[in-house]
Amino acid sequence: MIAQLEEALEQTVDQRIFYSQNNSVKGVTLICIGGIHGNEPAGVKGLQKVVNELKAKHITCNGNFYAILGNIKALKKQIRYNDYDLNRLWTKEEVKELTKDANFEFEEQKEQKELYDAIKSICETHQGKFVFIDLHTTSSPTIPFITISDSLNNRTLAKQFHLPIVLGIEEYLEGPLLSFINEFGHIALGFESGQHDDMNSILNSEAFIWLMLYNLRLINNKAFDYKRYEALLQFENGFYEIIYRHNLSPIHQFKMKPGFKNFSHVMKHQLIANDKLNEIKSPFSGLIFMPLYQKQGEDGFFIVRKLSRFWLTLSTIMRYLKLHKVLSVLPGISAHPQNEYCLIANKKVALILTTKIFHLFGYRRKIIVGDTIQFIKRDRKVTAFI
Ligand SMILES: [Zn+2]
Repeated sequence: MIAQLEEALEQTVDQRIFYSQNNSVKGVTLICIGGIHGNEPAGVKGLQKVVNELKAKHITCNGNFYAILGNIKALKKQIRYNDYDLNRLWTKEEVKELTKDANFEFEEQKEQKELYDAIKSICETHQGKFVFIDLHTTSSPTIPFITISDSLNNRTLAKQFHLPIVLGIEEYLEGPLLSFINEFGHIALGFESGQHDDMNSILNSEAFIWLMLYNLRLINNKAFDYKRYEALLQFENGFYEIIYRHNLSPIHQFKMKPGFKNFSHVMKHQLIANDKLNEIKSPFSGLIFMPLYQKQGEDGFFIVRKLSRFWLTLSTIMRYLKLHKVLSVLPGISAHPQNEYCLIANKKVALILTTKIFHLFGYRRKIIVGDTIQFIKRDRKVTAFI
């Protein structure tokens, strides 16, 4: 199996944009990124299979389609990254640095600059709706699932798939690519297709890309084996929210207890892992999410809980009615002077209102500045790429 993967990767891992169909200035543009983590080649392979079939059958998309590689050097070495995780470098500050200097010290800075240039040139070529897909796999066994920032446009597209959808991972991660993309108002979905070395992960990635092409009306259901792929990705399609992340220190020697599958139930105080000093127990009851069964990585595990239909409907209505504007007139909360998507709350108010209220109104990322907390809204208008 590994040999097959290597052979497939040999064909594609030199070219950043390894396939494109540029058919329309104002049509929908789908951008699929595979292998931003070099130890996750299944997404690249799935993408390559779709590309091969599009070429063989001479299928023309009713819009634009790009297949892009993430961490090329790490993919070749079959490691997650060389110096830095390429999916943790997408803060505005880091990206601004890229545009200043061409003498990069670290491998991932070179990779990031090329990836940034590729995305920027695509965004400047087209004017229609942009949809970004980032293809991943996990170190633990899992059913396929989607991760998104909680904006209504992300939710609407994600709901078209029969898959679990996990909201709000960006609150716990610094600098993932899709959060950066979301800042410009574009739709951006992460797809985790299964465990790294599972052959089904390739097939699931392939199915997801075909169904995405179809759901965006870039192709019709006769262009591919619709029934087969639709049947393949039939899972429970609920929304989940992350309530806890177990962060790792560099000298952690973190070791998960064996046998945890993604989305399996855990109880409060259940023993989850060990590190050099302690037994690590779950602080909450819920479902375990992305338990770490590999050496490289900063997140030991997450706990998620299912969101109720009531909460989802209420938050949708509140956002359509733009009721978030009410928040900024409450005492202790003010609008950010430069950022229209940011509210500044003093810590006392933030405690009373709790993060849950901000979540309801569509505010997610929390940044602590002095004795204030800044909450950033995920729904936003489309703006030009920096
Ligand atoms: Zn990944």
